[in-house]
Amino acid sequence: MRNVRTTIAIFMFVLPLTLFAQKDQPRVDWDAVAKIREEGFQRSQVTDIVGYITDVLGSRLSLSEHMKKAQGWAKVKMETIGLTNVIIEPFMDYGAAWDNEYFSLHMIEPSYVPMVGFPLAYTPGTAGKLVCPAVIVDIQVKADCEKYRGKLKNAAVLISPINTIDLANLPKGFSRLTDEELKSLEGMAVQPPRVFTPPIPNLELLKPEERIEFLKSEGVAVILQHDGGTFGLVRGFSRPGSNNDKWSREKDLNSLPIVAVTPEYYNRMYRILKRDIPVKIEVEVKTRIGESVEKACNVIGEIPGTDLKNEIVMIGAHLDSWHESPGASDNASGCAVALEAARILKAIGVHPRRTIRIALWSGEEQGLHGSREYVLAHFGDPKTGTKPEYEKFSVYFNQDYGAGAYRGINLQGNEFVRRVFSAWMEPFRDLGMTTLTIQSVGSTDHIPFDNNGLPAFQFLQDRVGLGGHSNMDVFDTLVPDDLKKNAVIMAAFAYHAAMSDQRIPRKTPK
Ligand SMILES: [Zn+2]
Repeated sequence: MRNVRTTIAIFMFVLPLTLFAQKDQPRVDWDAVAKIREEGFQRSQVTDIVGYITDVLGSRLSLSEHMKKAQGWAKVKMETIGLTNVIIEPFMDYGAAWDNEYFSLHMIEPSYVPMVGFPLAYTPGTAGKLVCPAVIVDIQVKADCEKYRGKLKNAAVLISPINTIDLANLPKGFSRLTDEELKSLEGMAVQPPRVFTPPIPNLELLKPEERIEFLKSEGVAVILQHDGGTFGLVRGFSRPGSNNDKWSREKDLNSLPIVAVTPEYYNRMYRILKRDIPVKIEVEVKTRIGESVEKACNVIGEIPGTDLKNEIVMIGAHLDSWHESPGASDNASGCAVALEAARILKAIGVHPRRTIRIALWSGEEQGLHGSREYVLAHFGDPKTGTKPEYEKFSVYFNQDYGAGAYRGINLQGNEFVRRVFSAWMEPFRDLGMTTLTIQSVGSTDHIPFDNNGLPAFQFLQDRVGLGGHSNMDVFDTLVPDDLKKNAVIMAAFAYHAAMSDQRIPRKTPK
C-alpha cells in the first residue's frame, strides 16, 4: 500500500494535469469512426456518384448547358441524401454561356484520316463544313505578319511549332507517394513566400489576341494548335483573353474558331507541309453562345447543427470542369467524395453540434470565382470588413488534387492544427493516411478562405489519373477504392470538426 501522503500529493499535482490534458486533448470518437467506416466501405455509393457525373452528365464548363444540368442533378442528389437548405446560389454576373454542339476534323489530302481535337472554349463556330488548305504560320513579332499578308484567305493555319513526343516520359496515370516523399513532406520547413519577378516585356512580341486579330483580318477560316507533347492528349482551355473580357459574347463571336489537335495528328500535318506537299482538311465546329450575361452559381446543402448550429464546418469541391472531358479527376472525384461524405453522415444518423455545409463550386477553372465570391458574401474580408458569420466559421476541407487517395493533410502553414489533425488522422493510419506537412498549397477553392484568415485545407493526395484539363480526364482513370477511402476520411474530419469543443484554431494574422 502506498503512503497516504504521497497519494495525496500525487492527487494534488498529477490529477489536475491529467484533467487538463484530457480536456485539451483532441478527441477521437472511435464509435462514430466505426460507423463511418462501415457505411463508407460496406455500402459505398461513391463509384456510382462519380460514374453518373462523368459518364452521364459529362463535361461541365461554367454556365454551359451541361453544367446547368449537372447543378440541377446535384441539388436533387443533395435532397435525396437528406441534406437541408439545398440551394443553387448565384454568385456573380459571369458572362455569356458557351457550349460546343458539334465538332469534326479530318485530313482529306494527301491521305484521309479522321483527327482528334477539341475547339477552345469561348471561340465561335465555323461557317458550316469547310474544306481548307493547311498552312504553317510562324508569327512571333509584329514584323512576321508581313510574310503572310494576303496569303491566308480561307486557310486552316497551324500556329504551334512541331512538338516532339517524349517517349521516355509518357504519363503513368498512377503513382503513389513513396515513403521517402512522405517523409520529406513531413520534415519540410515553411516555405518563404515566392517572389515573382515579372519578365521584361518584349514589346515587339505579338500577344495571342493580337495574332488572332491579324489572322482574322486576313480571312483565316480556322486556327489549329496543340498544347503539349503527350500522345492522344489535348490540353485545350479557352480563347486567349477570354478571362479578361469576362467571356464576352461579342468577343467570342469576333474571334476565330480555334481547335486544339492532339500532337500525333498535328505533327503529321506539320511534317507533310514541311515536305512541300499540300495538306487539305475538312472541319466543322458548331458552338452556342449565350445571348446575354448570366449569373454563375454554386450548389450548397447542409446537415443542420444542434447546440452550435450557427457555427459552420464546410466540405466541398468544384463541380465545373473544362469542356473537353468529363473532368473525372478534376473534379468530379472531389464532388463525389464530398457528396458521399455527406451521404455517409446522414446515413449513420449524425446530429452534429455545428452545421456541416457542402459546397460544389463553379467558376473554379477560370479563377476560383465561385469560392471567392462565396467567402466574400458569407464571411467577408478582414481588410474590408467581415460579416458576423466570420467568427462562427470553423473550417473548410477541399478535395481538388486529382482523384488519388488521401495520404495526409497540408497544414497550410497553420501550426495550431497539427495536434488536432494528428489525432483525427489516427483511425486511418491503416489506410495510408499518415502525413502532416506544414506546406501551403494553392490553386484551388480553399485559397479564398485561407487568404481571408479562415482555416481551410487541402488533403495530401496520391497522384492518380492522366491529368486534369485534358480530354483524357475520364472515368477509366479513377481508382474507386481511393475515392471510398477519401469519402470516409472527409466524413470523419467533418464530423470531428463539427463535434469538438472548440472551433478549428486560426493562424496568427500577419
Ligand atoms: Zn480542379
